[in-house]
Amino acid sequence: MRWEGQALEATEPDTLPGLAKISNLIRSVQTPEFAGVTFHEVAAKSALNKVPAGGPVPFGWTINPYRGCSHACVYCFARPSHRYLELDAGTDFDTQVIVKVNVAEVLRRDLARPSWAGEHVALGTNTDPYQRAEGRYRLMPGIISALAEARTPFSILTKGTLLRRDLPLLVDAARSVDIQLAMSIAIFDDDLQSTMEPGTPTTAARLSTVAAAADAGFRVSVFMMPILPFLTDGEAHLDAALARIKAAGATQVTYSSLHLRPGVKEWFARWLNTYRPDLTPRYRRLYGDGAYAPKDYRRHLASVIRPLIAAHGLAQAEADAVPGSGTARAEARDGNGEWRRARVASQAQAAMQVQAAAASESALF
Ligand code: SF4
Repeated sequence: MRWEGQALEATEPDTLPGLAKISNLIRSVQTPEFAGVTFHEVAAKSALNKVPAGGPVPFGWTINPYRGCSHACVYCFARPSHRYLELDAGTDFDTQVIVKVNVAEVLRRDLARPSWAGEHVALGTNTDPYQRAEGRYRLMPGIISALAEARTPFSILTKGTLLRRDLPLLVDAARSVDIQLAMSIAIFDDDLQSTMEPGTPTTAARLSTVAAAADAGFRVSVFMMPILPFLTDGEAHLDAALARIKAAGATQVTYSSLHLRPGVKEWFARWLNTYRPDLTPRYRRLYGDGAYAPKDYRRHLASVIRPLIAAHGLAQAEADAVPGSGTARAEARDGNGEWRRARVASQAQAAMQVQAAAASESALF
């Protein structure tokens, strides 16, 4: 067991072979308030990440104060990114969280550079900036203040109700810069949500946070991502979900069907085989050969959800798209609502990766 010998609040600079590769690892910490989670505190060298030019996402820069996410969504698209530290894409992603403890400080330095042009910065593109760790580390207030003072517009996408803590600060910041807030809420079935997103705030709590942000004057988007085939794609579920989203005061909805990239598919298949083995054959038919639901499925989903979005008086930002089709921005905001595909150089490259992995993965379901 890798974490034997980790005393509470212990300092362990050489905890893992992978982590030991990080020259800027300060310490690894466990606390009683976050049972089962280890925080690896690092001193970041920079805060702003440049999105590769020509990519499908509608922004050029991101900030990710955390890597790994205790929200632990089974379908999380970011899971494979944890492997760079020789951590696994399953439990390690949920429980070994990298924390850039100096992120606000280095962000101020980044923003002060003469070359900084004040472009839009997206938060929530890799892992959730308001995951539970934010209650301990309080990194977001410093980030928000730094961006506002540098007149840099930004967006936040989260499942975290901790966003509510920072609403007064965001209201102040919005006097200086354009701020877009989005809440990711994909599942409106409490039993399903508790097993598939075990570390997240409840759907009701997230809707309440949407309402608080709307009351504070923000136009809030809800990302219904991912829509889960045979689990959350029924017309009644979608209709009820959209009614609750509208009632909470959101103005806009973005949706996408489930994607299962290599590294995520294995973890999702484990959940499916545990909780809904009856659906395994149907998922095998949809995802056995790749990461994307077939076009026919997505066309069907669009035919159901688009009229419902309109009927509830909500704007539809972007909808499900077909890989390589040119409607790339929708796919860029992938299956868990985060703009993960910033790290994919192009839609075509992503499709090739999926095809290459398909043969070895087809037996997972
Ligand atoms: S989908 Fe978002 S909230 Fe869920 S584990 Fe991944 S980063 Fe965290």
